[in-house]
Amino acid sequence: MLWPNATRVLSKMGLLARLAAHCDSNTHFLVRTSSGKVLMKIALGDFDVPAICVRRADLLAALLSALPSEQILLGHEFRHLEQSGERVRIHFADGTSKEHDAVIGADGIRSRVRQTLFGKSDPIYRGYLIWRGVARYEGNAIEPGANSESWGAGKRFGILAIGEGKFTWYATLNTLADHSDSPDGRKSEIQKEFAGWHAPISNLVDATPDEEILKHLAYDNIPLRRWGVGRVTLLGDAAHPCTPNLGQGGCMALEDALVLAKCIVNHNSIQAGLRRYGSLRYSRTRHIQQRSLLMGHIGQWKNPLVVGGRRVVTNLLPARIFEHNLRRVYSYELPGS
Ligand SMILES: Cc1cc2nc3c(=O)[nH]c(=O)nc-3n(C[C@H](O)[C@H](O)[C@H](O)COP(=O)(O)OP(=O)(O)OC[C@H]3O[C@@H](n4cnc5c(N)ncnc54)[C@H](O)[C@@H]3O)c2cc1C
Repeated sequence: MLWPNATRVLSKMGLLARLAAHCDSNTHFLVRTSSGKVLMKIALGDFDVPAICVRRADLLAALLSALPSEQILLGHEFRHLEQSGERVRIHFADGTSKEHDAVIGADGIRSRVRQTLFGKSDPIYRGYLIWRGVARYEGNAIEPGANSESWGAGKRFGILAIGEGKFTWYATLNTLADHSDSPDGRKSEIQKEFAGWHAPISNLVDATPDEEILKHLAYDNIPLRRWGVGRVTLLGDAAHPCTPNLGQGGCMALEDALVLAKCIVNHNSIQAGLRRYGSLRYSRTRHIQQRSLLMGHIGQWKNPLVVGGRRVVTNLLPARIFEHNLRRVYSYELPGS
């Protein structure tokens, strides 16, 4: 899911039109019970740019199309780096090395660049897994423009519209970090866990080939106050990994990229630009990490009494509280540097 704060970045890069061409519009978000009762209807708001659901491969292809191919060198596993004077030398697993003016470590939640700068800090497991799939559905159990998340005890099921009759779905389940797949396959396990839940949950899972169902565990890490040293900085999950509950991890990486570019262009020294970037991004990304973690905790509550209380409170709470918070996230204007 790319929310307006991310599609605004893509629009500034001239890549949005291509990505949004075949996407449905997303106008509101429903929080539902496992039987389908709507507890809260949250309006996503009117922005200058849409919220869209795209396949990761399509996003990567759009980003790739904007770069000259000679700028990309694949198949090089980063191992370590050394800084001396005005240069940074990076060493790869195949024994080769390269020297550059600066290095941006965008190497994900288990970032080796982060480890090189600040020592080892293993990601923190938050107690649940997420299965995901993409399916075609042509029935009428999904309200046009509505994304939804349905809440049970220690499990949730979300549905997001891609467009042209395709939907992405996700299912979460409290489990240990060493959860292994059922011998009957992921599809069968999900159907068992979500048996009796509202339509079209079973249809979506059924329409997804077993081998295409992804499984990830929910990890994040504590916010990192410093993002770089000298001529090296971090970006995306390497700097601020978060649980997927707000669908904002990739969106934050896109925001990072544009702020970083502005900071490098607008500062005479690379080091000053990199430090300014870190300081501009810290509180924004920490806020998303913390809210995401909280939403995950609440969404994964399992105790029947607590789950009952959550249902009552969610039904009573005015949606505008959430709308206000979401607007703050979505309306982020990239700072000048
Ligand atoms: C279940 C789930 C659902 C999500 N849903 C959303 C969503 O709806 N919207 C959203 O915005 N975000 C979502 N996210 C978060 C999103 O996937 C991440 O925040 C995003 O991928 C981070 O991008 P990144 O480029 O920083 O890191 P990554 O996407 O992890 O990319 C890191 C890259 O670095 C490479 N790499 C790693 N180590 C090395 C090395 N030593 N040398 C060379 N290369 C290396 C990796 O191969 C990889 O290509 C979700 C995450 C999960 C788990």
